[in-house]
Amino acid sequence: MSILEDVANFCASHIDPNIASWEAERQMAPVSFYRSAAQLGLTRLEVPEQDGGLDLGFDEKLAIFDAITESSMATAFSLINTHNVANDLARKGSAALKQRFLPGLLSGEVLGSTALTEPGAGSDFGSIVTSAEAVDDGWLLNGAKAWITNAARSNVIVCYVQTDPTAGPKGIASFVVDGTRSGFVRSAPEELAGGHGIGAGGFVLDNYLASEDEMFAPPGEGFLAALTGINGARTYVASMCRAMMSSSLGVAVTYGNSRQAFGRSIIEHQGLGWSLADVATQLEATRLVVASAVAAVVAGEQPGGDPRAAILPAAYAKKFAAEVAEPAIAACLQTMGAAGLRDEYPLSRHLAAARIANFVDGSTEMMNERIAASLRS
Ligand SMILES: Cc1cc2nc3c(=O)[nH]c(=O)nc-3n(C[C@H](O)[C@H](O)[C@H](O)COP(=O)(O)OP(=O)(O)OC[C@H]3O[C@@H](n4cnc5c(N)ncnc54)[C@H](O)[C@@H]3O)c2cc1C
Repeated sequence: MSILEDVANFCASHIDPNIASWEAERQMAPVSFYRSAAQLGLTRLEVPEQDGGLDLGFDEKLAIFDAITESSMATAFSLINTHNVANDLARKGSAALKQRFLPGLLSGEVLGSTALTEPGAGSDFGSIVTSAEAVDDGWLLNGAKAWITNAARSNVIVCYVQTDPTAGPKGIASFVVDGTRSGFVRSAPEELAGGHGIGAGGFVLDNYLASEDEMFAPPGEGFLAALTGINGARTYVASMCRAMMSSSLGVAVTYGNSRQAFGRSIIEHQGLGWSLADVATQLEATRLVVASAVAAVVAGEQPGGDPRAAILPAAYAKKFAAEVAEPAIAACLQTMGAAGLRDEYPLSRHLAAARIANFVDGSTEMMNERIAASLRS
């Protein structure tokens, strides 16, 4: 697939030389980066051809974003979130919504977000309190969102709200929110231990007026709409963890074969060789559990396929990959001695991103809840 070669060249020219300074400045990639990524097609991979997309499959998207993750998971995660908003709008949006919001997303001028989490509700999505009240000329939205990927800069946000506080999950709807409109107040981005390329942040909706045609999922469908695609998201997060483990092992092996200690290369010392053997084994196990989830997601997308069959494989993959990635990357870093900490190597960035992977698209504990539910009689 020639796009994979283009992506490898793009990472080498646009991410690898810059990622350490973006992270040191606690910044996302600049706007020019997203424009270049869009020119390569990275904002339109799964988008249907009639909407200006490449109509690639989920597995092809994964391979491309894995390659970007080897350079920076934070940047890959930011891009994939914009891509997903564009794809959702293209596939489910009205002609008016597409005309208003799709061109900016596809050209990389505008970033996209999907906003479920609030300061008071993360795992317990059904308890969100951002409200939508029907008024004469549309809906008034009020409330706050937190920990939203790309919120540092995004202007097209699929935002989940509660339309009826007595209805619980059945009252949840979503709107496409415009970050340039009055009533949208952006918060300062999160200052984190790493992963600033994700642009995690929040915003307040203060009497934000959404028109009727900006409702994306109506009340009663919002909760389910948020869960549609979650198995794909869990699978690509797992795959990104695999990609970071693979990248870390590659760097550690190269370093370990050239660095000398006590008269031989450090990888020849049994302790370190065995430690990397453990990582290689975990990497292979992760590859297999991710492959099983990818197959289930792809099968669920086929005509007549059952997307629910991907629930467990995706939960297994995300739980396993996120849990093993962090110690595996740390083990690779350990074999490099202090040098592994240098920002010329990706390992410390991968380590922070592996921690983040344990929260996004459902925490590891929520994966346990999902898996445990399948064991109950
Ligand atoms: C970098 C980053 C990017 C993000 N991007 C987005 C985004 O784009 N959109 C979005 O909507 N959200 C996003 N999130 C938020 C993410 O989805 C939440 O962090 C996650 O859902 C967990 O919510 P919480 O952090 O509020 O933790 P809480 O829900 O407060 O939970 C705290 C801890 O308790 C555990 N816990 C909660 N309930 C249970 C239970 N029943 N049993 C056992 N343990 C439990 C959790 O797993 C967690 O470890 C992002 C988060 C990060 C860090």
